[in-house]
Amino acid sequence: MQHDVLIVGFGLAGWALTEVLKQEGKSFVVFDAKKQSSSSVATGIYNPVVLKRFTAVTHAQELMNFSIPFYANTANGKFQHPMSIYRVFAKAAEQNKWMEGLGNTALSPYMSSKVHEQNIHNIVTPHGFGEVLHTGRIDVNGLLHHAIHNLIKTHSFAQEQFDYDVLKITSGGIVYKQWTAKHIIFAEGVGVKHNPWFATLPIVPNKGEWLEVLCKGLQLTQMIKGSVFIVPLGNDRYRVGATYARTFESSTPTAANRTWLINQFQKYTKLPFEVLFHGAGLRPTVPDRRPVIGTHPNFRSLSCVNGLGSRGVLWAPFLAYQLVKHLYSDTPLPENLQTTRFMTF
Ligand SMILES: Cc1cc2nc3c(=O)[nH]c(=O)nc-3n(C[C@H](O)[C@H](O)[C@H](O)COP(=O)(O)OP(=O)(O)OC[C@H]3O[C@@H](n4cnc5c(N)ncnc54)[C@H](O)[C@@H]3O)c2cc1C
Repeated sequence: MQHDVLIVGFGLAGWALTEVLKQEGKSFVVFDAKKQSSSSVATGIYNPVVLKRFTAVTHAQELMNFSIPFYANTANGKFQHPMSIYRVFAKAAEQNKWMEGLGNTALSPYMSSKVHEQNIHNIVTPHGFGEVLHTGRIDVNGLLHHAIHNLIKTHSFAQEQFDYDVLKITSGGIVYKQWTAKHIIFAEGVGVKHNPWFATLPIVPNKGEWLEVLCKGLQLTQMIKGSVFIVPLGNDRYRVGATYARTFESSTPTAANRTWLINQFQKYTKLPFEVLFHGAGLRPTVPDRRPVIGTHPNFRSLSCVNGLGSRGVLWAPFLAYQLVKHLYSDTPLPENLQTTRFMTF
């Protein structure tokens, strides 16, 4: 079976590639074992502001301009939930930092020009809060399920573990079992450590744990960001978290983090609540906090997209577009995102 592209991995990175390839009229097949997926457990927040320091994320404006309409145009925007973030100040001095951040022209469209002193309904904010605008949440798990359902219908999705030993690189592209293609793109998240061609990329698993709680009467319609995110999911259910850990003993939820997350939630509301679910996932992160894209220096038919562990929602569509344009129109990739900053041959 001849295709333009094979894709290994169907998290946000793999999904965005399929959407761009469809737009370009290219044929593809996706392989995903549906084992360790970071995207399917992601909270899905999109936000161009670094909320610790009130600075802009790398490529903030380009990501917002490109990626947000991309989600709006997917399934009529059904998986996109625009809502502001209320950044709760931990101390009065943070109000000054907020005002300093406003001086940054890249950020001013996204930060309310005044700080709010009043409490948010049922949320305790003794030092006030600032509102981050044009932000929201993507229901990533829902989006991926929807996409897989459609790919299965067109015989474009193989639910199986990709076996690297079986891949043959030829002068015209690649052959894998019964499939041949000009290109193969690896988008395996933390699974890349098993990939013989891209395993040297410094993809560091970062564990995130979160709770889903039911808190009747809280009635939040915007996201809260204090020591943790509190994200409305509808019907007074909320996502609390996630945690960040570079060192951990297992990839499963721990009792200690459950207690920590409960304590954080109780800092912000006095209302009673029930924990409905406690989950964990592994983010594929890169020490310089930027994703990696590019073709293999020795094998032009092999490419990768990875390192979406931080702001994966914003990055995925933008990176997919950049890589497909690079493969088919020879458009140069942004230098600060290329694999070559880590891979020397
Ligand atoms: C708890 C948590 C909360 C997060 N919250 C946010 C957030 O609010 N906003 C945000 O922007 N980002 C968030 N992220 C980060 C981000 O969404 C993800 O890390 C990012 O989407 C990773 O996407 P990916 O496609 O690169 O990797 P993944 O989603 O991990 O997908 C890789 C896929 O490849 C498959 N795979 C790997 N190897 C093979 C193989 N050999 N054969 C077949 N299949 C294979 C895996 O099964 C998996 O499905 C969060 C992450 C976590 C864990």
